[in-house]
Amino acid sequence: MLTIGEVVEVLEANLLLEKNLNTEITSVEFDTRKVGEGSLFIPLKGARDGHEFVTQAIEQGAIATLWEKGNPHTQPSGIIMIEVIDVLQALQDLAHYFVQKINPRVVGVTGSNGKTTTKDMLDSVLSQAFKTYKTQGNYNNDIGLPYTILHMPIDTELLVLEMGMNHKDEIRPLSLIAEPELAAITIIGESHIEYLGSRQGIAEAKMEIVEGLSLTGELIIPGNEPLLEPLVKGLSQTIVRFGQEGNEDISATIVESSKHSVTFTVSVFPGETFMIPIVGDYNVNNALIAIQAGRYFGLEVEQIKTGLAQLNLTQSRAEWVKAWNGADILNDAYNANPTAMSLVLETFSQIEVEEDGKRIVVLADMGELGEQSQQMHEEMLHAINFDAIHHIILYGEWMGYLADKMVTADTLVPIDYFNKAERLELVARLREIILPTDLVLFKGSNSMKLSEIIKEISEK
Ligand code: ATP
Ligand code: MG
Repeated sequence: MLTIGEVVEVLEANLLLEKNLNTEITSVEFDTRKVGEGSLFIPLKGARDGHEFVTQAIEQGAIATLWEKGNPHTQPSGIIMIEVIDVLQALQDLAHYFVQKINPRVVGVTGSNGKTTTKDMLDSVLSQAFKTYKTQGNYNNDIGLPYTILHMPIDTELLVLEMGMNHKDEIRPLSLIAEPELAAITIIGESHIEYLGSRQGIAEAKMEIVEGLSLTGELIIPGNEPLLEPLVKGLSQTIVRFGQEGNEDISATIVESSKHSVTFTVSVFPGETFMIPIVGDYNVNNALIAIQAGRYFGLEVEQIKTGLAQLNLTQSRAEWVKAWNGADILNDAYNANPTAMSLVLETFSQIEVEEDGKRIVVLADMGELGEQSQQMHEEMLHAINFDAIHHIILYGEWMGYLADKMVTADTLVPIDYFNKAERLELVARLREIILPTDLVLFKGSNSMKLSEIIKEISEK
């Protein structure tokens, strides 16, 4: 993939021991468990300093390692040492070089929610026409993105990259490394608002994706997002807005939404029906990005439809499982913010339930909302459709504020509240109220460990 000479030149590094510059490296790894014969080892600083593991990397077959200038560890022998100022920066510089060398067409996707889903959809669609490579798993940060790039096969024609962030100034470097020609923002939500101050701050941070975007490229954004409109004014790139309200550049209308799939039509393809094999009307937004990307790269509508229908998700975060008594549980308990919670509540309220069945929702605290946390939890009152939900269970300290607000809702829908210490009571209550014909939604931040509760009520 790269020679030692190339690495040294790109990084303007010092070669500590004279070696053959034509030596080829076979892979670039920072985890010694993945190091193999011929690898270049990248000693990143994590919980422990990677320099501690160089000897182990040599044993695993590494032929070269980066070596940060001035680090206190003893230099090992028997390996090519490439001295750099900053190991992480070097990894990113190498990735930037490699993507230019292989020169695939590049698509980048960011957003508060749905990045991984959209990345998988983009890959599924675009692989109908190109040899694609995509971010593996959720490798979307300052380490994961360069790692992804350095692992693309050399015959890759099109690269789909997920770009994630928690803070301002994190998307910009990712975009500058990858220099996409097509970029997409899935949604402006409230994830990490604690660090970004406001939705405005989040919108600005996501917009950093245009920094490396080709000036003649295209940016796909959610339509009807007032925070983005001023930010896209004056950009040279083509802006394409998507959504489900009917007035966007590419707009979807849901035809049918079931437990395992959604069918919909798309404004720019009259007469055609599309299908995605996953639950959630909000996933149609993600699909619109993939459809627009298909148009951008000149795919036939049939190829786009096939790609979406064959979607293979990296990891399904909204997943149906069975309760002990056969009731259907929608486990969407991986992460949560108000926008995502509202959308999944809306979807859930529309899913067909048997005549004698109930729709039950279990809502737990949403994390990392900072100062606005209380208000944002209280406002979830407006996200609940009391005509469609038959039982509400609130769990966690922040949800206590919503529980208090519920008093004002003037509804006959039963509401139970449990604080975090009342986990056992919560499980007991679920066992009491869930009947075999019910649908149950679990939504909350990962830290609330709803998945464990789901596991308990799945066991007989
Ligand atoms: P992460 O930040 O962890 O990488 P992500 O942005 O990659 O997350 P996904 O893993 O694709 O997001 O989806 C996570 C959850 O976000 C889903 O289970 C769903 O609840 C919600 N979600 C997915 N797509 C959307 C969307 N377009 N709008 C709002 N919520 C969405
Ligand atoms: Mg992701």
